[in-house]
Amino acid sequence: MKKVVKFGGSSLANAEQFRKVGEIIREEEDRRYVIPSAPGKRFEGDTKVTDMLYTCYRTAAAGEDFGNQLKAIKERYYEIIRGLNLDLSLEEEFAVIEKNFRDLAGEEYAASRGEYLNGKVMAAYLGYEFVDAAEVIRFHADGSFDADTTDRLLGERLSKAENAVVPGFYGAEENGKVRTFSRGGSDITGSLVAKAIFADMYENWTDVSGFLVADPRIVKNPEIIETITYRELRELAYMGATVLHEESIFPVRKLGIPINIRNTNCPSDKGTLIVESTCRKPRYTITGIAGKKGFCSINIEKSLMNGEIGFGRKVLQVFEDQGISFEHMPSGIDTMTVYVHQDEFEDKEQQVIAGIHKAVEPDCVEMESDLALIAVVGRGMRSTRGTAGRIFSALAHASVNVKMIDQGSSELNIIIGVENRDFETAVKAIYDIFVMTQM
Ligand code: ADP
Ligand code: ASP
Ligand code: MG
Repeated sequence: MKKVVKFGGSSLANAEQFRKVGEIIREEEDRRYVIPSAPGKRFEGDTKVTDMLYTCYRTAAAGEDFGNQLKAIKERYYEIIRGLNLDLSLEEEFAVIEKNFRDLAGEEYAASRGEYLNGKVMAAYLGYEFVDAAEVIRFHADGSFDADTTDRLLGERLSKAENAVVPGFYGAEENGKVRTFSRGGSDITGSLVAKAIFADMYENWTDVSGFLVADPRIVKNPEIIETITYRELRELAYMGATVLHEESIFPVRKLGIPINIRNTNCPSDKGTLIVESTCRKPRYTITGIAGKKGFCSINIEKSLMNGEIGFGRKVLQVFEDQGISFEHMPSGIDTMTVYVHQDEFEDKEQQVIAGIHKAVEPDCVEMESDLALIAVVGRGMRSTRGTAGRIFSALAHASVNVKMIDQGSSELNIIIGVENRDFETAVKAIYDIFVMTQM
């Protein structure tokens, strides 16, 4: 068996956390390839090393003295090194980093040093080989990710290493210029390594005991999802359940490698297993709930719209011409509604309205802002009748006004639109009706 193990920032925030991680890795010989994030928050209100690096680089780019800021970052690593009694100096590394900051090597280079340095510390602590992600994770010159070259480079390099530490979050172009994934991207690195070495399992260690049915910041002590499919997870991750970077499922999904979300602080908990498909019945009708605030709806009405061929295309063309992507588009006989992100839309609102009038001559166009979308996701919904009805009645009981309800044709998800201010109440009400009543 070969396992790839990725540890998030809070799992590596200080020496005590590193010790827990060391124990987890040593417990199973299969845990051969380790992907560390940069040190995260040690306590509420603390700053992640990645954020410290961004700030420090901005100071450097502004031509101001960044010495103290870099010193504070260095101290984060030395706190760990001292706590672990490691015989490791990072002086030369920091001298190079300081010079590169002065030479304005770029924001992505700056941010990547959090993982790079933590990888060095981790390799020294475990006695594993250090493999610089810049050598094996490849980006194109436009900053997009080069999947094929990466797969080849990683496969070749790691076939020569019995054990290795590969820092998360970054890679490089062919000419060596460092590039990063978007925030939370170490999850992607773990997935890429798992694919390249044909791992049996990708363990993603974090600070919760698995994927929870709802965001713990909204629902108190939500239940843990035991098994979830990639498709369900994709829907939830996209709608804001950010436990795992939404792009991290694609590489492993192709090979059917399961991902196991685990808790570094409670290693005996089984966590959540993310799989391609399963015949395991979900515990509840729904697998999970997630949502986001900050949407606008544009409602277009025109009598006999249904008979006008090309109506929908012409409307969507207006959005496309303004560079706005749409999120949902429920429709009735003489109405169609387009949901967009408020922050993308606001500046272009009047151009869009004028464009719609010109394109399709509607009877009226109405807009509403400050809306939230909630996704209720579950493979169990396909075989259960009345799910939408139960959602409606739960929301009515909680005095939440439902603006929109839209069931995807896969029957895997139902999207509900509510006002921003009702968002938390709605999530709690849906959670209660499906989970607390045990059906
Ligand atoms: P890491 O630093 O280990 O990558 P993240 O902060 O990226 O960890 O992700 C874990 C966090 O995601 C949890 O601490 C929790 O606050 C948040 N979260 C949001 N939605 C969910 C959910 N549905 N299930 C579990 N955690 C969630
Ligand atoms: N350290 C990076 C971030 O804070 C990447 C990660 O943690 O996955 O976004
Ligand atoms: Mg994360």
